[in-house]
Amino acid sequence: MYSLKILGGGQEVGRNSLEISKDGSESIMLDCGVNFDEKDMPRLPLQVASPVKLKGIVVSHSHLDHTGGLPLYQISTSIPIYGTQITKQISELILSDFLKLSGAMLPFELREVQKTLGNFISLNYKDTVEVGGFTIEITKAGHIPGSTLTIVKTEKGDIAYSGDINTTETKLSGPADLSEVRDAKVFIIEGTYGKFNHPDRRKVEEDFVSKAKEVIEGGGIVLVPAFSLARSQEILSVLAERNFEYDVYYDGMSKDMLRIMLQNKNEINRYDILVKASETFNPVRGWRDRKEVLRQKGLVITGAGMLKGGAAVFYYKKIADDKRNAVFMVGYQAEGTPGRRILETGMFDEQSPPLKARLELFDFSSHAGRDQLVDIIKHSNLVEKVIIVHSSIESGKVLAKTIMEKLNGVNVYFPAEGDEIKLFD
Ligand SMILES: [Zn+2]
Ligand SMILES: [Zn+2]
Repeated sequence: MYSLKILGGGQEVGRNSLEISKDGSESIMLDCGVNFDEKDMPRLPLQVASPVKLKGIVVSHSHLDHTGGLPLYQISTSIPIYGTQITKQISELILSDFLKLSGAMLPFELREVQKTLGNFISLNYKDTVEVGGFTIEITKAGHIPGSTLTIVKTEKGDIAYSGDINTTETKLSGPADLSEVRDAKVFIIEGTYGKFNHPDRRKVEEDFVSKAKEVIEGGGIVLVPAFSLARSQEILSVLAERNFEYDVYYDGMSKDMLRIMLQNKNEINRYDILVKASETFNPVRGWRDRKEVLRQKGLVITGAGMLKGGAAVFYYKKIADDKRNAVFMVGYQAEGTPGRRILETGMFDEQSPPLKARLELFDFSSHAGRDQLVDIIKHSNLVEKVIIVHSSIESGKVLAKTIMEKLNGVNVYFPAEGDEIKLFD
């Protein structure tokens, strides 16, 4: 008998952690991520009932909502972790940064993070590996460099887990490789954008570049708050591909992420463009550079993506009061963040004056939209059960309804945290 337990990522975006158990005697985990509450307290996933039965953790990609809880299994146990090489390299930065910001609120320390990396076993795409009694294969998921789709092969049938997935080609990642999901009887799929479809990607890119030119030619500075992992390098690539002729700067942890990506040529869809971006645009190395950026009229990309801290806040406060300047949002702005407040009210916080600079929002999502998610599932000829994770309640409900309409006879589940689903008898 095979069953699935939702340890995290049930009816919420992120904090994914799923346990697949066989006959109650052994199990594997898919991802082990965290989220944050309104007060920025880390929220950990539930833990497995029996760590001795846990044979390994397969990690789909390096975002904190898939990796932040990995060190939990290195405190009194030494569970092996499987993922791509670049996922390991980026996780080292992501987990160290997590410790720096939230260490006092976590049940683990540097030692457990180091053990996490020490127990990390790197896989290549299309590798098949035995983890306890489970056979695992990974393919590209197209979400960020190193992201994988996982296929768990059992004698009762295949279980596919999308991780975070994208079928739209981006500069950093080619579309997801769905060649191995055709025999999946169970499909565990993310539903971040279960509610709507994305606009045409090329149009978004063109719109971004032409509006950026407009602002700079009008004497302004463009601030692009962006996640340091992937979104920053994607924007740099979009600008480099179109020979953007104005000064472009990138600040914060995105510099380290860029370095790792340049070391992993096979992981980057348009490596040539990323190299060009790194040779053309300017890293910001300290406060003197930051002041210089404000004197030059150009575009600056910097973390944090939701303006929760980092250099983005410094730049924002300097440019917000001048209508020649602009803030270009290029990523998801979570509830309760300054980014969301600016979008909704035009104010950074209750004390600050309303934003005078131009505000624009661009959909550079790295997640499949609603119809793309349905198409991904349709790649399987045998699918019987679809389980939606990594989704808000609203999006998950719309996606569940859409799947039931488009795929006859399929059972759709949208489980909450702690729920258990029987996969095979
Ligand atoms: Zn995620
Ligand atoms: Zn992700």
